[in-house]
Amino acid sequence: MRVLISGASIAGPVAAYWLARSGAHVTVVEQAPALRKTGGHAVDLFRPAMEISERMGVLPRIQDRATGTTLLTVNRPWTSRIARIDYAKLVGVMSDRHVEIMRDDLSEIYYDAGRDDVEYLFGDRITAIADDGAVTFEHAASEKFDVVVGADGLHSGVRRLVFGDDVPERLLGGYLAVVSVPKSLARDGEMNGFYEPRRVAMVYTAEHLDDARAVFIFRPERPLDYDHRDVPRQRDQLRHAFAGMAGEVDSWLADLERTPAFYFDAITQLQMTSWSSGRVTLVGDAGYCPGPAVGGSTSLAVYGAYVLAHELARTGGDYAAAFTAYEHTMLQPVLGSRSLAKVNAKTIVPASRWGVNALVGIARLVSVLPTGVTQAVARLNDRGVRLYDTMPLPDYAESPEPLRLRGIPHDD
Ligand SMILES: Cc1cc2nc3c(=O)[nH]c(=O)nc-3n(C[C@H](O)[C@H](O)[C@H](O)COP(=O)(O)OP(=O)(O)OC[C@H]3O[C@@H](n4cnc5c(N)ncnc54)[C@H](O)[C@@H]3O)c2cc1C
Repeated sequence: MRVLISGASIAGPVAAYWLARSGAHVTVVEQAPALRKTGGHAVDLFRPAMEISERMGVLPRIQDRATGTTLLTVNRPWTSRIARIDYAKLVGVMSDRHVEIMRDDLSEIYYDAGRDDVEYLFGDRITAIADDGAVTFEHAASEKFDVVVGADGLHSGVRRLVFGDDVPERLLGGYLAVVSVPKSLARDGEMNGFYEPRRVAMVYTAEHLDDARAVFIFRPERPLDYDHRDVPRQRDQLRHAFAGMAGEVDSWLADLERTPAFYFDAITQLQMTSWSSGRVTLVGDAGYCPGPAVGGSTSLAVYGAYVLAHELARTGGDYAAAFTAYEHTMLQPVLGSRSLAKVNAKTIVPASRWGVNALVGIARLVSVLPTGVTQAVARLNDRGVRLYDTMPLPDYAESPEPLRLRGIPHDD
C-alpha cells in the first residue's frame, strides 16, 4: 500500500512512522526545503501523546529537550507587584503527564524516529489529486498512491485541493504572533509576561536554544483587516497592537524587520464535521485545528496521526472503513477541544482589568495550594482542563497478529 503524506511537522512524521511500521510504503512531501530548525514555539504534549511517544521509543529524547519553564512572572501596569506563579504546578492542574517542548525539536524527534523507513521529499508540494490516486507535484514526477493524507497544517494545501476554500471555520477573536528575539532578553526557566486587557506579551527561552521567543496574543475590539500572506502588514499590525505596553515589550519588537523567524495568524478554529473524501483524509491542524495556542492541538495532532495509521492497518488498508473509524474515534476529542479552545481564547486574554486580576489570582492560588488538592479538584472536570489527559487511547496493541497492510487495487 502506498501512502502519501503532505506535511512534515508533527502529525505527518507520527503518521508516517506508524504507517511504515505496519508495512506501508510511505512518502512525505514537505514544502519547506528542509526540516524547520528556526522559529516555532513551545507546544504541549499531554498524557495520550506522551504514551504514543513512549510507544515510539522517543520519550526520553523528548523529555531531554523540554523547555524547562518552571516560573511565570506577570507584570501589570496598574501595580508594581510582579506576580510569580509556579508554572509547573499550573500545568499540573491540566495534566499529570505533560511536557512542553519547542515544536521544531519535537518535529525533528518524530522525523528521526521514522526517517529510515519513510521517503521524505522536501521543497515540493502537491498540485493536484485525482480520484484514482494519481498525484501531481510542483517539481517531482506524478505518481499514484492508494491513500493521500493532508498533514499540512491550518492552511492545508491538501484541504484546499479536496474541499475547496469554503470550509467551515470560526475566528476566535484573537491574533497570535511569535518573534525570535535575542536570548539575552529572556531567562532560562522563566516565562516573563506583560498583561493588559485584550493584550498579552510574553518572552521565554530554553537552555539549549540560541534565541528567545516573544509571543504576542491580542483580542482587538474589531476584527483586523488581515491577510495571512501579507507579512509587512502583519508586522505593522503587531507593532500597532502592542504600542506603549512596556519598555521590555518595545525591545522585543525592536528587531521585527530583522528577526529570522516571524509568525502571525488569526486564532482560527476549523469546524469541519468530516475530513475525509475518497482516498484523501486530513490529520492534525489540517483537519481539526481547534485554534493555535488555545486548544492543545499538538496532542490532538499526535493522537489523530496514531489513530489514523492504526485504523488503516487494522482494516488492512480499506481506506473507506479506516477513515470512518478514524473520524468516529476523533469526533469527541475534536468537539471537546473546540469547546475548550473557545473558552481559552477569552480566558487567556481577558477583556478587562478585573479579568486580568482574576486570572492572576486563580493562577497564584493554584501556585500555593498543595498539588494533590489542585489535581483532585481538576480531576472532577474531565471535559474542561483535563480534556487532553483523559482522551482514551485505543489499545491497538491487543491485536494477536502483527498488523499488515494489504495493497489496494487501483481502478485501472
Ligand atoms: C504561535 C503558535 C503557538 C502555539 N502554541 C501551542 C501550544 O502552546 N500548545 C499546543 O499544543 N499547540 C500549540 N500550537 C499549535 C501547534 O503548533 C500545532 O497544533 C501543531 O504544530 C500541529 O501540527 P501539524 O503537524 O498538524 O501542523 P503544522 O505544525 O502546522 O505543520 C504543517 C506542516 O505542513 C507543511 N506544509 C504546509 N503547507 C504545505 C503544502 N502545501 N505542501 C507541503 N507541506 C506543507 C508546513 O511547512 C509544516 O511543516 C501553536 C501554534 C502556533 C502557530
